[in-house]
Amino acid sequence: MSRKQVFQFLELPRQMPQRIPLELRTNGDWGEMYGKFALPEAQHQAGRCLDCGNPYCSWKCPVHNAIPQWLQLVQENRIEEAAALCHTTNPLPEMCGRVCPQDRLCEGSCTLEDGFGAVTIGAVEKYIVDAALEKGWRPDLSEVVATGRRVAVIGAGPAGLACADVLARNGIHAVVFDRYEQIGGLMQFGIPSFKLEKSIIARRREVLEGMGVEFRLGVEIGKDLGIEDLLADYDAVFLGTGAYRYTDGGLPGQDLKNVLPALPFLVQNGRIVGGNDPWGRPIAGWEDTIQLPDMAGKRVVVLGGGDTGMDCVRSAIRLGAAKVTCAYRRDEANMPGSAREVANAREEGVRFLFNRAPLAIEGEDDLVTGVRVVETRLGEPDARGRRSAVPIEGSESLLEADIVIIAFGFSPTVPEWLAAQGVQGSPNGRIVVSGSLAEEEGRLPFQTTNPKLFAGGDAVRGADLVVTAVAEGRDAAGSIARMLLD
Ligand SMILES: Cc1cc2nc3c(=O)[nH]c(=O)nc-3n(C[C@H](O)[C@H](O)[C@H](O)COP(=O)(O)OP(=O)(O)OC[C@H]3O[C@@H](n4cnc5c(N)ncnc54)[C@H](O)[C@@H]3O)c2cc1C
Ligand code: SF4
Repeated sequence: MSRKQVFQFLELPRQMPQRIPLELRTNGDWGEMYGKFALPEAQHQAGRCLDCGNPYCSWKCPVHNAIPQWLQLVQENRIEEAAALCHTTNPLPEMCGRVCPQDRLCEGSCTLEDGFGAVTIGAVEKYIVDAALEKGWRPDLSEVVATGRRVAVIGAGPAGLACADVLARNGIHAVVFDRYEQIGGLMQFGIPSFKLEKSIIARRREVLEGMGVEFRLGVEIGKDLGIEDLLADYDAVFLGTGAYRYTDGGLPGQDLKNVLPALPFLVQNGRIVGGNDPWGRPIAGWEDTIQLPDMAGKRVVVLGGGDTGMDCVRSAIRLGAAKVTCAYRRDEANMPGSAREVANAREEGVRFLFNRAPLAIEGEDDLVTGVRVVETRLGEPDARGRRSAVPIEGSESLLEADIVIIAFGFSPTVPEWLAAQGVQGSPNGRIVVSGSLAEEEGRLPFQTTNPKLFAGGDAVRGADLVVTAVAEGRDAAGSIARMLLD
């Protein structure tokens, strides 16, 4: 590598793709906020990589992408080879490039992050895959030999899609069932279009179908079709059913009108934005459908500081709310949401109130008027190492609000139909699977307590990330392939 290339980071600053102007974002533009690199910009940013010899970025990436190697291919304008390399570790690279909290993962570990600004790894990953797919590149499965094995995948979220991809690459026919009529799980029905446009998911469906993956959508297992039918008809079953149990804060007043649970709000709004249901009719397969109040000119308070809370505040801004406040019980450093999303929300006009815990939602004539909060200070770390929020006596106040959105998070549950098949759950509702040392006990990683059933993603680890669901779906598929083919 020439001296000029090695020190490119000194001449070229870190740069993200151009963003949609603020005035459009705050006036109801739902398009993806970040634009796309053209080849020269992607090459400039890729050229900032130091190739530091110990790729911390790859280690921190949950799927261990070969980041320095595909950055080098971008510099050499070998985009299709870069796309093929991306797909060896991640079946959804264009999604991860868009929604991963890179500041906590690959980019947070980039050597240049300390003083010069990390390589924009996520944006280059998005560029590689978008550009290759637009040129007509598709994963090459011409060498794959069909094995005659068949596996049912329950859930078309990132875990299920990643599992199906690896199965297809091993010559195993994957049939993916989902209760919704579109694939993507929370990427489709949860993450708003300003982070991930839904046409990207539709394109990925075509790619997977081209690889031989079959989708049976609008079919809920346990209701429309029994798990025992799948166990009889398929060689194995993968459970990528996600985490949908709403964390109930038990706040007095939470049943008042205009108190909205976060996910139904985002799902319903996403449908309206997508043009599917401007009248707020029930969504197929979504029992908690809600009527959305008009947010224009209203004061909106969002309770919770995770990714879901950030999506709610930024959606409320786009819906024309006059004042949007996020109240979170810990400080900013302990907030679970991505720092980049918090910065974007701030820029769009969201006000953050840290160290405020909600006590009750107040109202008049059934309508919300505000949230009673108490100030907090950070106490001792809990079992997971997160410091608790300790209320400060005498510091109560009222946050005035016309609409309150509750975004306290989600956890999984093990449905009865799974428990009846011998699948064990943990006390917090996660499906129990064997760990990486399972083989010593004659079991395979991600195998449940029923040897024919495997699981991964939010259903196993609790609500987390797209990329960790992808990692587990892939690893579970590897175990299934070993069970069926070795
Ligand atoms: C609002 C919101 C914003 C988020 N933002 C981000 C972000 O910016 N970045 C990020 O990395 N992560 C984000 N996440 C988290 C991420 O979306 C999830 O961690 C990820 O989607 C989990 O993948 P999964 O495949 O395990 O589950 P899911 O994506 O939940 O998919 C599970 C699928 O299983 C289906 N299913 C369940 N039960 C059945 C059944 N009985 N029969 C048939 N189908 C069934 C469901 O319909 C669903 O499609 C966000 C989550 C939310 C809620
Ligand atoms: S998958 Fe996510 S963590 Fe890994 S390189 Fe891509 S953006 Fe970074």
